[in-house]
Amino acid sequence: MPAALRDSFGRVADDLRISVTDRCNFRCVYCMPAEGLRWLAREDILRFEEIHRLTRIFVQRYGVRTIRLTGGEPLVRVRIEELVAMLNALDPSLDITMTTNGVLLRQKAKLLREAGLKRVNVSLDTLHADRFAEIARRDAFARTMDGLAAAEEAGLRPLKLNLVVMRGVNDDEVLDFARLARERGYEVRFIEYMPLDGQGRWNSDLVVPNRRLQEQIEDLFPLVPAQEGKAAPAQSFKFADGAPGGVGFISSVSDAFCSSCNRLRLSAEGGLRTCLFSMRETPLRDLMRQGASDDSLARVIEAAVWQKEEGGALHISDSSYQAPAKSMSQIGG
Ligand code: SAM
Ligand code: SF4
Repeated sequence: MPAALRDSFGRVADDLRISVTDRCNFRCVYCMPAEGLRWLAREDILRFEEIHRLTRIFVQRYGVRTIRLTGGEPLVRVRIEELVAMLNALDPSLDITMTTNGVLLRQKAKLLREAGLKRVNVSLDTLHADRFAEIARRDAFARTMDGLAAAEEAGLRPLKLNLVVMRGVNDDEVLDFARLARERGYEVRFIEYMPLDGQGRWNSDLVVPNRRLQEQIEDLFPLVPAQEGKAAPAQSFKFADGAPGGVGFISSVSDAFCSSCNRLRLSAEGGLRTCLFSMRETPLRDLMRQGASDDSLARVIEAAVWQKEEGGALHISDSSYQAPAKSMSQIGG
């Protein structure tokens, strides 16, 4: 019987986000600098066997049920579907999901589905091709939309869309995304812009508090809370009139969800992070490569989780706030 992985504030960590690469084929303005980010060396990145081993410990010892593959862009990691199959073999009922920019889904969606991926979250910040090119710094709107279609065709449903809302950039598209959710049955998640952009562009004027977006949507399409049982980082809603799809809000800046945070992150080089805003990482890769047993890895993991921060994000609005040295693409969002 697995033991719950608890921190000193009583929260249970059962959602593991694994960054499989720090590399990306986009350069989104809110995430990466246009150029100059140094990639990790190939040998510094966890091998599939190492990711599998750590995941096995989290799943079998601690009952972790949700595994999200992310990055960087997870689909640029060669043969990523093989990793999905390895993780799925641990327990086919695991909720294995992926966050992707979607541009390679036409090539990969079917393979991923066959390997055991349950769902994808596709990041899509605008429905205008020209704006897309400005935000992602890549002219790839049509291919991304085709990737969404490929995911649906492959049965990776319900499809979730993530968008980072930035004032004066894409905040005029909120209702268009709500309409899209209703028309296509998508779950659209609005994410507040966090100061993790790797180049210091973030400033609080660019953040649109999610409650404003929710009010805008509710004026046109009343919402009812989705029945998800427990408190969770994303607040999810369905449409009161019974239309398909739904919307969710991840309010990391205006209303930090730290008290209900069930997430852990494993960086591409095997560092365990207990919070997006952590100033420290617990390196697991070198322990594994030095021959550590599962028991000793488990002790290190338990100690790291016990020390999970009470609420890093709460301090974003403080003048003393200090962003972690890593950007979102390096941490694994
Ligand atoms: N490349 C994949 C993608 O874009 O979906 C996965 C990695 S990306 C870092 C994961 C998520 O983090 C994306 O949904 C992205 O929009 C979000 N993200 C990146 N930088 C962010 C920031 N500064 N604030 C809020 N969300 C951010
Ligand atoms: Fe790449 Fe995703 Fe960051 Fe965009 S948000 S630069 S797609 S890692």
